[in-house]
Amino acid sequence: MQTSMTTVTSLKAFQALVNEIHDLGATQSLLGWDLETMMPAKGAPLRAKQLATLAKLSHNLMTSPDMQEHLKTLRQPSIYDRLDTMSQALVREVGIVFDKSAKTPIELLQEMVETTAEAHSSWVEARANKQFKQFEPVLRKIISLNQRLAEALGYEDSPYDALLDEYEPGLTVKQLDPLFAKLKAELVPLLKGIHGSGYQPDVSFLHEGTFPAPRQLAFSEMVLREMGFDFEAGRLDLSAHPFSSGSSTLDVRLTTRVDEHDVFSALSSSMHEGGHGMYEQGINPALNRTPLASGTSLGIHESQSRMWENQVGRSKAFWRAYLPKLQAAFPELGSVTLDQFYHAINRVKSTFIRVESDEVTYNLHILMRYEIEKALIEGRMKVDEIPEAWAAKMQDYLGITPRNDAEGALQDIHWSHGSFGYFPTYTLGNLYSAQFFNTAKQQLGNLEETISQGQLLPLKNWLNKEIHAVGKMETADTIVRRVTGEPLNASYFVDYLWAKYGEIFSIKR
Ligand code: ZN
Repeated sequence: MQTSMTTVTSLKAFQALVNEIHDLGATQSLLGWDLETMMPAKGAPLRAKQLATLAKLSHNLMTSPDMQEHLKTLRQPSIYDRLDTMSQALVREVGIVFDKSAKTPIELLQEMVETTAEAHSSWVEARANKQFKQFEPVLRKIISLNQRLAEALGYEDSPYDALLDEYEPGLTVKQLDPLFAKLKAELVPLLKGIHGSGYQPDVSFLHEGTFPAPRQLAFSEMVLREMGFDFEAGRLDLSAHPFSSGSSTLDVRLTTRVDEHDVFSALSSSMHEGGHGMYEQGINPALNRTPLASGTSLGIHESQSRMWENQVGRSKAFWRAYLPKLQAAFPELGSVTLDQFYHAINRVKSTFIRVESDEVTYNLHILMRYEIEKALIEGRMKVDEIPEAWAAKMQDYLGITPRNDAEGALQDIHWSHGSFGYFPTYTLGNLYSAQFFNTAKQQLGNLEETISQGQLLPLKNWLNKEIHAVGKMETADTIVRRVTGEPLNASYFVDYLWAKYGEIFSIKR
């Protein structure tokens, strides 16, 4: 009886503490969103201080004697085993963060937050001037901070493993190397076949003339609504680089960017970020104010965005329903046929810009970033060697050479965020998305038919139920096995690409 009372008291106090820490994190997230969408340039230095203060408060609570005491109690097997499933998951997940926080010196954490806030404006400026050299000093600092972080967290084989684990728990270089090698081996023959087919879809009508930004944004919002994104619990705004964030399942922030000479890219990025946002909105709201109210891993998160962006947004079924609507919004597209449009948005072409690359070359962009990051963190490459390494790899894998640093090593925002070990989760996302979509087709039976009638909610509801609702209560591996009946299997993605692009380019595997 005495033990049970202690357990109840300890669990309640633990939950209250977790809620407070989560509130601080949610506030950090909103200040970060503001920094990239609304904040005037002069606000940057003090915003960095504000974020650093919140990070410090949250770290102090996470590593407090109270937290240590609660976890010590609740992690005892005799007590833990009697907790309900949600409480067990909470103790498990908070325990992981606690163990990591305890290993991370507070000075390192503060330095990281201040450096990355400063790095954002440095990256924006360097990119505008196309000068990687201007970004080098702060990037050198970020890499050294990440190396110190890896040492503090610990690892078995590569310091990069410690960083991967931050985004995809349990993922290692040992697992990734053969996965990328397999993809490279499968994608090269497909690319060769496409290049050898002699067919190049006409894409001119996607760029001819001017497609006004307000009309593009309105079209993106309409599609997001029909996908099931809840605008009562979310927003869509503009930023230099599209992203999604938020503070709870009831407040999800999406951003996109509009090119008035491209009728497709803003919509495509909106559908991508919408997939992320609907994952967050779809989580059981009972998990709010805890770390369980988030995607279980970045790989699973990316599977949701890529599914809406590609399996849906680049499918013939989707455009059977939406091309007439797009033509109504932009009458200059009036004479374009479904096949012409479908082929144009699925053109395969090596490009410098990862976020606008096609499904076939995309993972080669990730592969080169993975190789560069691994070499930097393992100390095998220096920061000033990046532009040259970037150009060489781009030539090797994609057959093109960037004309300047903005097209090359400065195009992604992630390093300015301090994120190393993040890129590989994009490739995992592609693999998971193909595997999930395959299961959705089997279980829903007529999925492509409903999509071609403009009914997107059956897929959204299936994703809510099968993947979103559990939040972080299940691991990525548990979810993929429960939903699809097997662990991550790259062949679904490779099969999907071959079937789709084999048909478009009339080539055989
Ligand atoms: Zn994404």
